[in-house]
Amino acid sequence: MSGRPPIKRWPVAPRPAPGERLSSWLARLASLYETTTSGLLDHCGLAGKRATTLERGLQDTESLLLAARTGLTPAALDAMTFREIAPYAQFLISTKTRFLCPECGASPAIRRKDAALPWSFWCSTHENRLRSPARRILRALLPGGTPDLLDRLARRGSARLGAWAEDRDDSLPSVPDLVQFLTIRHRRMAPPSLDEPPVLPQSAQGDNQVIQRPVARQALLVVVPEYDRVAPLLDKPASPALTELARGSILRNYALAIAIARLADDPAAHAARVIAASDAEGEARVHEALRPWPSALRRQVYTHLQRLRAAGPVLSAGAGTSRRGSSEALSYKLRSAQSHNRAPGVS
Ligand SMILES: [Zn+2]
Repeated sequence: MSGRPPIKRWPVAPRPAPGERLSSWLARLASLYETTTSGLLDHCGLAGKRATTLERGLQDTESLLLAARTGLTPAALDAMTFREIAPYAQFLISTKTRFLCPECGASPAIRRKDAALPWSFWCSTHENRLRSPARRILRALLPGGTPDLLDRLARRGSARLGAWAEDRDDSLPSVPDLVQFLTIRHRRMAPPSLDEPPVLPQSAQGDNQVIQRPVARQALLVVVPEYDRVAPLLDKPASPALTELARGSILRNYALAIAIARLADDPAAHAARVIAASDAEGEARVHEALRPWPSALRRQVYTHLQRLRAAGPVLSAGAGTSRRGSSEALSYKLRSAQSHNRAPGVS
């Protein structure tokens, strides 16, 4: 036993809201005592610590100091942290609220853990669909209010992303390999085609330079053609691999989750379609992205590809020859062929 006096408990501490993150709760506590979060932590014996660092996982001493001041149990404090997120995925935790639940929006001081994770599409407290400024476009992807099939796929993809982030996923190809595959450019960058709706933010509308700007064409657009049809042009260029998740809009991340679920169901068929829709330059990148996939699965991909290429004149052009132009038609054909994957009413 040390001779130090016992730590004095503060008279009042608000109860954490369901799913609330530690930085939110500390900010509310600080506001109650008319100080800043860093001032509060200083008074708590945690000088120099940042709330956003503490919430990634409390050390025992930090937890005990906070528990002694606030009267919460260490377990209740731990529940507000992102301790379940593995170190390799912590860069995906946003310090701000990424996407909004309309009901949570009524109490903006309370920020929940869900809203910080890029694979969250529903509020786990209220079950509302999370929103972003692009919600009108998400409605375009999900017309009629019955997006059951796409939602089911997105929930499965989201669960897989969450499991990977918590180091509970050992399926192959791994989540990073799948995201790497989905974010490669399978075709050269090109300006929008005439039948491509140039969905632009208001600030860019009427700007011809923006409309003619070459856009990245990624494998994601082949695996989720529904997204290709409605995604804003400025949303299509993407960062490579997992960085994309951290930066993506809710619409992009929703499409990525759908793609991950589709790839889990039939990876060989989807990968073969991406290769078939590639141009020569992009095809080399696709082959490279497939290298980490299990060899048996890669063999299935190439078997599917042979069937696809045998199925049409475009595909029989042979490896290594230029298929530009005609592969646009193929891409269209493939999208049409995928229409059985769409939910009723989704167009
Ligand atoms: Zn909510």
